[in-house]
Amino acid sequence: MFSSALFRIAVSGFVLTVGACAAKTQIRVAVCLSYAHDSYLNPDAHMDVEEATLTASQIFKRAGVTVNWRTPASACLAHQSRAITITFSAAEPSAEHKEALAYALPFEGNHIVVFYSRVKAAVSGDRCPVPKLMGYVLAHEITHLLQKCDCHSREGVMKGHWSRHDYSQMVYSLLQWAPEDIDLIQTGPWGTRKDK
Ligand SMILES: [Zn+2]
Repeated sequence: MFSSALFRIAVSGFVLTVGACAAKTQIRVAVCLSYAHDSYLNPDAHMDVEEATLTASQIFKRAGVTVNWRTPASACLAHQSRAITITFSAAEPSAEHKEALAYALPFEGNHIVVFYSRVKAAVSGDRCPVPKLMGYVLAHEITHLLQKCDCHSREGVMKGHWSRHDYSQMVYSLLQWAPEDIDLIQTGPWGTRKDK
């Protein structure tokens, strides 16, 4: 995910309801939060992450997903096989993740890495608060795992490259799901599994 392009505010009551009316299977997912030992994240960063989980929960509610956030990561040991782990890192990512705010490996397990400093830098000087963007980043990456797919959509939460306009929509939680992304979550391994 990257940034660039126009800044414009769009308010539409219609987009708020997209994807909210279809009957959905309620999906429950445990997400464990951990902090990398490679660098120090200050208390403000921890507060940003906490606030971001509230935004991500709101976003997922529209897709029929309830997230059970767990911290510290050690609390997840008993649930490891059925939980997603997110590591927050302040370190500069390696070359293979050039420009990425975060990454998930949907075909290799249940682990996500978020680059806190890049998320913060992406909205530096922008009206979009860090926790809002972070909330969307969490929702985006978790969705890759729920869908078991590295695919992206033309618009919305699963867009591969968010613009300034998308950031402006995030401020008011107006950036929505593409309907096909909700379908992919619902028909993905977490939506159809029996032991959740
Ligand atoms: Zn992505």
